[in-house]
Amino acid sequence: MGERVRAFAPGRVNLIGDHTDYAGGLALPMAIQLGTTVEGHRTDAAAGIRLTSADQPDPVVLPVDVADPAAVAPPWGRYVAGVVHELRPVHGFEGAVTSTLPIGSGLSSSASLELAVALALGFAGSPRELAELGQRAEQVASGVPCGIMDQLASACGEAGRALLVDFTTMAVEPVPVPDHIEIVVVHSGQPRELAGSAYGERRASCEAAAALIGPLHDATLEDAESIADPRLAARARHVVTENARVRAFAAALTAGDLAAAGAAMYESHASLAVDFEVSTPVLDALVERLRATPGVHGARLTGAGFGGCVVALTDPGALREGWVVHASAGARLGD
Ligand code: ADP
Ligand code: MG
Repeated sequence: MGERVRAFAPGRVNLIGDHTDYAGGLALPMAIQLGTTVEGHRTDAAAGIRLTSADQPDPVVLPVDVADPAAVAPPWGRYVAGVVHELRPVHGFEGAVTSTLPIGSGLSSSASLELAVALALGFAGSPRELAELGQRAEQVASGVPCGIMDQLASACGEAGRALLVDFTTMAVEPVPVPDHIEIVVVHSGQPRELAGSAYGERRASCEAAAALIGPLHDATLEDAESIADPRLAARARHVVTENARVRAFAAALTAGDLAAAGAAMYESHASLAVDFEVSTPVLDALVERLRATPGVHGARLTGAGFGGCVVALTDPGALREGWVVHASAGARLGD
């Protein structure tokens, strides 16, 4: 038997800045304490990749030179195959996947799976390279032209800090999370639907807007509103104003100004709902219910939208539901 390996990669929650990553904008995600562990041993390349998951009935068995990751069965094997396809591992691997994350709920179990698999299979490179590999794997596996936020947050996580990410420069700046607050993720109960096709349309709209007014990273509100097509103008307005809200939120968090941070979260939700049209009545109602709850400073949908989760900034113990998450270290080998 070959060398024993254990790799862990965290999930993430995005505090603010959604649908900005693929538009070259800003976001403030953080890696969380929940994540995916891959444990096993390296084998001969000829033995291929063999993984079981405690959360899936069927194992994944793949050759190390897998040709078409999108065609792999069972479906969870596509994420593994995407990584194998990008990494071209020189060894085989036999092991097991376990997860403390809710799967398919918007805390990025998929990115966490990709990064844990990549580390277990021998990835050697920087956190940013790990994130880039995971993003390519995710795109190949899911067929969705997703941005890099999930993988970057999982790769670059730091205990006690959220990550202010600029997706044009790829700069990652840690922002301390005050310890007298709680960050709570509440599932809306609505599964994410239509996320794939609508996501592609939103991304294409942002690219069309940028072709008219230049990169949305540097565009002003006036630039966005100069676009004749009202739908494209609204999409651009979301990205431009969301970038400003990410900066305002990071400054408010640093200053401990929870009212200002919370206000930016509510404005972000409204922008995602009205200008970007990725919210749902269920998500809107959940944000309003949380807003009316004492001790809640802010709440917004988090992730791609169309169902899934809301993230709230609260006084400790204000909510008796959801997952209380803590800013945590990034993907790593060996614990
Ligand atoms: P999210 O990333 O928000 O949890 P996704 O729909 O992007 O939701 O990814 C969920 C998919 O990732 C699952 O359907 C499954 O294919 C795969 N996955 C995630 N975690 C695991 C795991 N522990 N074991 C097997 N497959 C997993
Ligand atoms: Mg995912």
